[in-house]
Amino acid sequence: MKIALISPKGPLYHHRGGIFKKSLRYTPLTLTTLASLVPESMKAEIKIYDEGIEDIPDNLDVDLVGMTVITGSAPRAYHLSKKFRKKGIPVVFGGPHVTLAPEDAAPHADSIVQGYAEDIWPELLNDFIFNKLKPAYIQAPDLSLADRPFPRRDMLDAKKFLTTHVFEATRGCIHRCDFCVVPFAWGTTPYQKPVDQIVADIKQHWAKRIIFIDLNIIADKDYAAELFEALIPLNLKWYGLSTTLLIKDKQLLKLAAESGCAGLLMGFESITPDNLKISRKGFNSPEDYGDVVSSLHEHNITLQACFTFGMDHDMPDIFMETAKMAIKMNIDLPRFAIVTPFPGTSLYHRIESEGRITTRDWELYDGQHVVFQPRNMTPEELLIGHESAWKYTYSFSGMWKRILGSGIQIPISILANIGYRFYANHLHSYYNCDWITGFKPPISPKKAEAA
Ligand code: SF4
Repeated sequence: MKIALISPKGPLYHHRGGIFKKSLRYTPLTLTTLASLVPESMKAEIKIYDEGIEDIPDNLDVDLVGMTVITGSAPRAYHLSKKFRKKGIPVVFGGPHVTLAPEDAAPHADSIVQGYAEDIWPELLNDFIFNKLKPAYIQAPDLSLADRPFPRRDMLDAKKFLTTHVFEATRGCIHRCDFCVVPFAWGTTPYQKPVDQIVADIKQHWAKRIIFIDLNIIADKDYAAELFEALIPLNLKWYGLSTTLLIKDKQLLKLAAESGCAGLLMGFESITPDNLKISRKGFNSPEDYGDVVSSLHEHNITLQACFTFGMDHDMPDIFMETAKMAIKMNIDLPRFAIVTPFPGTSLYHRIESEGRITTRDWELYDGQHVVFQPRNMTPEELLIGHESAWKYTYSFSGMWKRILGSGIQIPISILANIGYRFYANHLHSYYNCDWITGFKPPISPKKAEAA
């Protein structure tokens, strides 16, 4: 049996003309994990294609195609699926969009997988072999991540990525932020891999600088402490994602630093407490953000802090206020997104019930476009304001102030800031804003401040 596993391209990740090229990409784990789950007894010939870095051959000769679909890549997945099915190749969809909006995805595929694939992907393949493919497969709640095969990282071309040393200890999150797909797609049970199996996976790659893609690596603090302790003897550097709650647990923060944590991404989301409250992220408190940054820096940990614009309590001055605060606090890498009501989330249902969804063109659901009517500003103000925050924080003066103010890991920080500066200055080129009449995107940092 021949299987092709495909991650369709989205607007921001496209190797021809997309913003993120090799320099900012690390290998995705989804396809390599799916490949590892194909039972050896099937003796399948597997090919994997990350369309963000390579084209899919026109003459793809396979028996089955599996695609992982996020909302932003759904139109591309549907387009590809139509082509394959026309040639008689059955197509299976899985991933967050499929799990959250099965009614949207199902008509475009022969079968869909809702939830994590560990148990149902092998079952689906078995059904396929015996010509008994069902229209849908749903993950059972008693899923375990223990004793699973290691992802087949060898199947992706390492030269095309920043790193292949990407690992995962946990999945899911215990929180229920209303805009986040995680709790609505997979519930609030944090699934965990046994720590010794993660260590064995890291050791087999001789990895010394790794990325954990866990969405909230400290969701279960006892588990996090066990993991961090096990990482200490490996003497490596790691980067990952955590909530700001890490700073409230000084012992865990110290342990994270001792285990080699060199950089964390945290969702600050908003500097407005009312926004955090309505989005169920009240555990963030803006008055503590300065402490969060300085505590991380004291432990030689850099911070990517993500802010989201367009929430209901944002006024038109929020962009520059947030950008100035990010510079003042010396955040190593501030990131900005436009709040996106992904289908299936609580935010989507609320905005939809208020009649404020303005487009269901899923390709625009990428955190960089406005797909709804904001409460206190126009869609144009939100789009331009978001871009102005990027440009202002990544102006040369904004960059140097932050980098020197942070004072840690300066060479890496300079490189990362230059990468994001490029992103900030090219963001407008990839907008697909025909629906905004008269939109004139390019603006300079000076104009950004005036906006
Ligand atoms: S803390 Fe992060 S991962 Fe968890 S629900 Fe909120 S946004 Fe999602």
